[in-house]
Amino acid sequence: MNILVTGGLGFIGSHTVVELIENSHTVVIVDNLINSKIEVLSHLETLVKQSIPFYQIDLTDEEALTQVFEENKFDGIIHFAGLKSVGESVEKPIEYYLNNLVSTMVVIKLAQEFSVGKFVFSSSATVYGDQDSPLRETLDLKETTSPYGETKTMGERILKDIAKINPKLAISILRYFNPVGAHPSGLIGENPNGIPNNLMPYITKVAKGDLKQLDIFGDDYDTIDGTGVRDYIHVVDLAKGHVAALELVESGVHTYNLGSGKGTSVLEIIIIFQKVNSVKIPYKIVRRRSGDIATCFADVTKVNDELGWKTTLTIEDMCRDMWNFEMKFDNSTRVL
Ligand code: NAD
Ligand code: UDP
Repeated sequence: MNILVTGGLGFIGSHTVVELIENSHTVVIVDNLINSKIEVLSHLETLVKQSIPFYQIDLTDEEALTQVFEENKFDGIIHFAGLKSVGESVEKPIEYYLNNLVSTMVVIKLAQEFSVGKFVFSSSATVYGDQDSPLRETLDLKETTSPYGETKTMGERILKDIAKINPKLAISILRYFNPVGAHPSGLIGENPNGIPNNLMPYITKVAKGDLKQLDIFGDDYDTIDGTGVRDYIHVVDLAKGHVAALELVESGVHTYNLGSGKGTSVLEIIIIFQKVNSVKIPYKIVRRRSGDIATCFADVTKVNDELGWKTTLTIEDMCRDMWNFEMKFDNSTRVL
């Protein structure tokens, strides 16, 4: 299949491009580089040993995107592009609603006009709000804690309305849990701007000595050791989940959790990261971070049964591959 990958130079998009090409699909990338760098394209091309068509376009620009659809015939679209910082979305709600919702509407509108058969949407576990884990796809969605989360809930709703008038379209809504890790080659990975908010990138910077210590946000949760529990998923496993959805999902809307189904605490992550990479992670316990929940992990029965997909990579793999990516480039030659 010929697949349009929006946001294909970003963290999850770039890894998915590799999996698509390794599974004999062809890919066209659209990205406006708002949160990625053009160098990622050459690293991707090195990895897959072929050139990849790329358009630097903002998806909210319908005219420019129409031209991409006129120049290419797509069998499917994977729509990753979007702004993703929870904290920033609280500060800049309009930017988040505009970027994430308008881009989704423009892409799905053109998908219909140009009769594209398959559409995969990047959603998030955040749409569940604060409910008890394991989280199943059948749960009612609760109000999320941020404008970012609301753009995901609304994006899902828009797609469900489109499906009502276009029943042949195969729509996969994929709710990611906590994507981490990097490609084992060390050529692509994630490098958030500034001081990271998320646990794993923060740990990596502490291990490298760029940050002094990790603040652990609370050790008094009702969890195995008092620290927060999340469902971490290796980005390569996550990328494979998109290929499965694209290849197997038939008409209608199908929603799947993409997680490991297993929770891991902050302290457990620190212990594993130190062990597999032979580094020290100094930390101190501080107050809980506002808005955090104790535990969040997926029920993955549906995706296992219907798509035959499950994670194969471990927390050890995630820690090792993140560190490998970090070590491969110093800050001056950084690609992401
Ligand atoms: P990312 O920021 O690394 O990649 C997103 C890409 O989209 C970037 O390259 C950016 O430049 C591009 N982009 C953003 N707005 C655009 C626009 N208007 N036009 C064209 N390109 C645009 O993010 P990621 O971690 O790869 O996430 C991909 C998707 O998955 C996002 O929709 C995100 O909300 C969702 N998601 C991510 C996580 C996570 O923890 N990484 C968790 C759940 C869901
Ligand atoms: N966390 C932490 N210190 C940090 C960042 C995160 O203790 O500097 C904890 C956080 O409280 C949560 C877990 O690590 O329990 C995962 O946080 P992250 O922000 O990576 O993911 P999210 O909370 O969005 O699922």
